[in-house]
Amino acid sequence: MSNDSQGARLEVEGEDARIDRFLSELVKGPPGSSVASVEAREIEALGDTSFTIVDSVTGEAPAPSLPADMAPCEACLRELEQHGERRFGYPFTNCTRCGPRYTIAIDLPYDRERTTMNGFPLCEACAREYGDPEDRRFHAQPIACPRCGPHLRVIEPAGDRREDAPIVHCARRLREGRILALQGVGGFQLLCDARGEAVVRLRERKRRPHKPLAVMFPSMESLREHLIASVEEEALLRSAAAPIVLLDKGPSCSLSAAIAPGNGAIGAMLPSSPLHHLLLREVGAPLVCTSGNLANEPLCTAEGEALERLAGVADLFLVHDRPIARPVDDSVTRWTSNGLQLLRRARGYVPLPLPRPGGGPVVLALGGHLKSTIALAAGDEVVMSQHLGDLDNPLSRALLERTVDDLLRFFDRRPEIIACDRHPDYASSLLAEQLGARFRVPVERVSHHHAHVAACIAEHGIEGPVLGLAWDGVGLGDDGDLWGGEALRCEGASFSRIATLRPFHLPGGETAIREPRRSAIGMLHAMGAPLDARSAPWFPPGDLPVLSAMLDRGVNAPRTTSIGRLFDAVAALLGLPAVTSFEGQAAIELESLSTSIGPADPYPLPLTGSAPLIADWAPLLHSILADRDRGISAAEIGARFHASLAALAVEIARRAGLPQVALTGGCFQNRLLVERTGERLTSAGFRVFAPSRVPPNDGGLSLGQTWVATRRAAVPPSARRW
Ligand code: ZN
Ligand code: ZN
Ligand code: FE
Repeated sequence: MSNDSQGARLEVEGEDARIDRFLSELVKGPPGSSVASVEAREIEALGDTSFTIVDSVTGEAPAPSLPADMAPCEACLRELEQHGERRFGYPFTNCTRCGPRYTIAIDLPYDRERTTMNGFPLCEACAREYGDPEDRRFHAQPIACPRCGPHLRVIEPAGDRREDAPIVHCARRLREGRILALQGVGGFQLLCDARGEAVVRLRERKRRPHKPLAVMFPSMESLREHLIASVEEEALLRSAAAPIVLLDKGPSCSLSAAIAPGNGAIGAMLPSSPLHHLLLREVGAPLVCTSGNLANEPLCTAEGEALERLAGVADLFLVHDRPIARPVDDSVTRWTSNGLQLLRRARGYVPLPLPRPGGGPVVLALGGHLKSTIALAAGDEVVMSQHLGDLDNPLSRALLERTVDDLLRFFDRRPEIIACDRHPDYASSLLAEQLGARFRVPVERVSHHHAHVAACIAEHGIEGPVLGLAWDGVGLGDDGDLWGGEALRCEGASFSRIATLRPFHLPGGETAIREPRRSAIGMLHAMGAPLDARSAPWFPPGDLPVLSAMLDRGVNAPRTTSIGRLFDAVAALLGLPAVTSFEGQAAIELESLSTSIGPADPYPLPLTGSAPLIADWAPLLHSILADRDRGISAAEIGARFHASLAALAVEIARRAGLPQVALTGGCFQNRLLVERTGERLTSAGFRVFAPSRVPPNDGGLSLGQTWVATRRAAVPPSARRW
């Protein structure tokens, strides 16, 4: 067999039946692996009986194919615990079934000399294992042991101390309530005891008042003391990707309330590397485990930048000398009645390819602005980058550019089409223009919500027309409004708008993202309600005349049809946070409250007009305000609000008359919403699709953009209408 950039090539010979059996086993692949496709061809038998691996062949243009990082396998974990084993307690142990991949790869084909392990020549014992077909480390590129591999080091501000037992030392510090910056698999993470005061201190230092923090548990048993996990959720936690899984709190959860304030769920994970296993076992308690960055900056990957940027946050650092090739965050997932839902696609999933049936030109898609990802479609596959974060700061924008270079160099492709969002001011759109000029190729602008629906179509390979419900925060619409409550009929390269939300003005535009009170007064104003201290208690009374004037004249108050902003308005009207520290915070609180209520009756939310239909939220808000004033709880009103949106989806689907419905956009990260809507549509006879291996939020836009650009390229120029 040999490894080339197209994949693995095997030559086998034997009786037909045995070869058939071999092929059927091969398709399944070993645990932790995924076999994208198997192509079999008959060749002349050579009469060979030995098993040999011949050197990788370089030079051809590689098909995008590189493994993702994997959590330690059972065999490696057993060795880690076994006294007398060569790798007993060694934090960098791995084998062909586990260990780092994407985070150490510098180039393809994936061989040790093209990984960040190239500075560690193999010792004799490791070289023997590497060359032995019987060994589970046969050709494991990141193979290492205490003699020849990477090592840990503790750094405390007092000076560089070489601790004999760095893990024991750090565990003691963590138990004392200190904050540790740990150089993990794809970047630095900040860790602290998940039960005490340290969590509050971490939030203050990181200037992250509310956004949920993830928790890493030493074991499944420890996790069950605090949280509830179903069979599927446990399998996801234990999978090779070892992602963060959002789980409900159990009755005896004693984790710090500061971990996820106002949120019924907690992001939980199991140790994702041997280093994490050793540290968590030594601490013996759950640890908060969050990205080692400041605000919206990318993860720190190198020791130097971590020491500089995290100096004000961490009390000590646990670092090592295995360089991290690129920042890769922990992935965030959840299990819904529709199956797996990826909310942040990164470690463990990237860069596994997604299919592009039928192939097409090489398309490089630059995604959106928030939760940025990029995608490269070549041949019949698409590779998406890891989550790159929001592009508001220069470090994230630099990472975006580096990732473009990374993917193009990695897969040795020259783009034939660049795709990006329609929004002209997104950093990703500006970069698209530059790249278009650099490669002298066309730039295809794709409407934000069309891309949302296309991502779902692409992932599931849906054929024929689709009704896409793209409900999110905001994206620039084709008419200049901020869209976000769209029902689109999508087919081939084009879409039409079937239904939307009745528009309203957002005073202050973008600032409304973190101020639900602005959505609330925008809607109250549109209903003709007076804005005063009683109706709009969230503003100093002196500000209200100015805001009213902005709304009257529509100055600095763009029109929007966003369901995300509708969520914000309802949350503010029900007394939930009127000013938040991250987008979606108010909606998450509303969802958490509403989840405790069983099935609820919808409020009126009628569809009026035609082409597009308009969902008029005024009767909905009137009912909500009346219930609120009668003293009905926010939880009950919230449950009825969710039911109203699910009923709206069914009504739109009936009017559209399309059997296939895609539920996408950031609002469908809301489990209650996606499950209730899915159930109601399914029982009304519709076939429902939701993004699964791709985020429903803006992290999925790049995939959708490749799909739309590919479809457009197939339309003759004379027939193009977009
Ligand atoms: Zn292993
Ligand atoms: Zn060794
Ligand atoms: Fe969006």
